[in-house]
Amino acid sequence: MSRRGRADISDVVVVGGGIVGAAAALGMAKQGMSVQLVEPRRPEPWDAERAPDLRVYAISPASQALLERLDVWSPIQSRRAQAYRHMEVWDAVAGRPVRLSAHESGRDVLGHIVESRLLLDVLWSALQASSVRLRVGISAEGIDTDNAARQTRLLLSDGTTLSTQLVVSAEGANSPLRRAQGIGTQGRDYAQQGVVCFVQTELAHAETAWQRFLSTGPLAFLPFGDGQCSIVWTLPAPEATRVCAMPAEAFETALERAFDARLGRLRLCSERVGFALRMQVAEQMVDGPLVLMGDAAHAVHPLAGQGVNLGLADVAEWLECVRHALSQQLAVPSPRGLARYARRRRSESWWAAHTYDAIERVYTAPQILPSLLRGQAFSLLATSARLRRWVVEHASG
Ligand SMILES: Cc1cc2nc3c(=O)[nH]c(=O)nc-3n(C[C@H](O)[C@H](O)[C@H](O)COP(=O)(O)OP(=O)(O)OC[C@H]3O[C@@H](n4cnc5c(N)ncnc54)[C@H](O)[C@@H]3O)c2cc1C
Repeated sequence: MSRRGRADISDVVVVGGGIVGAAAALGMAKQGMSVQLVEPRRPEPWDAERAPDLRVYAISPASQALLERLDVWSPIQSRRAQAYRHMEVWDAVAGRPVRLSAHESGRDVLGHIVESRLLLDVLWSALQASSVRLRVGISAEGIDTDNAARQTRLLLSDGTTLSTQLVVSAEGANSPLRRAQGIGTQGRDYAQQGVVCFVQTELAHAETAWQRFLSTGPLAFLPFGDGQCSIVWTLPAPEATRVCAMPAEAFETALERAFDARLGRLRLCSERVGFALRMQVAEQMVDGPLVLMGDAAHAVHPLAGQGVNLGLADVAEWLECVRHALSQQLAVPSPRGLARYARRRRSESWWAAHTYDAIERVYTAPQILPSLLRGQAFSLLATSARLRRWVVEHASG
């Protein structure tokens, strides 16, 4: 039975209006569910005249397909989305560069680089025009479940409560609701930071996402508009602090050297910010009425640029689960549907997190054997079109 029309009761409350929570709320509302969204801060509007957002995402074709279904891809693409059709990856110590191209897998693009602020702005505009009831300026503090009455109350920071059947936590990696429910996490702190900034490159980026593996961590140059690249430079935390504080010219020289000057001279054209990196996977993705999505469920190393893509894959699976429930005249997914969502998404995110973690360990290990192994891996990838196609398929979702 739908609760539409009653302000304090809904089928689902989504907690967290980041990209994952906003997409989930919009998708459920489009399927006819009554949805509320709780978020402490309304996102900043995107403005073409302002400097681009330092946080950009490599949106995979699978994520693009979801955003198309939500009718938000076209406004994103028409504003500022940089397609990339190639990836070039190489190791600072061993092996030759490997070039992956979309056409090798019969695709037009490998993905698009999109600013976080633009994605959020477009998703929130769509939310405002939808039936989702937005509760902005407050946060969720806990869940109170009455199993006998099959009713859940979400406790909010303003002292009020919301009655619902399910709560989706898309609260990001620190998820207060996941903690309050006592759901543990596994993972590790990388003691690294991802330093992000924009640079103007002397040579054209050629619609290529570049990544050089260094013993300190990977360095990515993601193609952007106006001859610029967005940088994600993974470094041990003290080193990241040091490069962020360097004078611009010294930073440009250090970055050119770290990138083997593949795109010629570089000019810094933004501030530099470091993000702490950790790997974290929740032990459960569903607990009673609480469903985890996005970074609340899994945070991964940015070396494969898959964090938001994994979160949007959660949303796609969840919307499939909802579609199935509604086709059976249920207001929300059954416990069996919830278990299927949890099984599928936990397994994929667990593998992704541990695969990227293993790659990170092999690259930062000082011993000779890992460097020989990675040399072999690169040679194999360079010579095997089949393996390259497999990598492209995997990266595309
Ligand atoms: C350096 C770096 C580079 C990255 N590069 C990429 C990339 O290229 N591609 C990619 O896919 N990913 C990338 N990521 C990962 C990406 O940033 C995250 O995966 C993504 O932001 C997760 O989105 P989310 O919506 O799950 O969480 P968040 O973006 O963290 O949003 C959580 C939201 O929940 C709200 N919230 C929190 N607690 C509460 C509460 N109690 N009540 C109500 N609201 C609450 C917050 O205000 C926030 O709006 C990168 C990460 C880093 C650090």
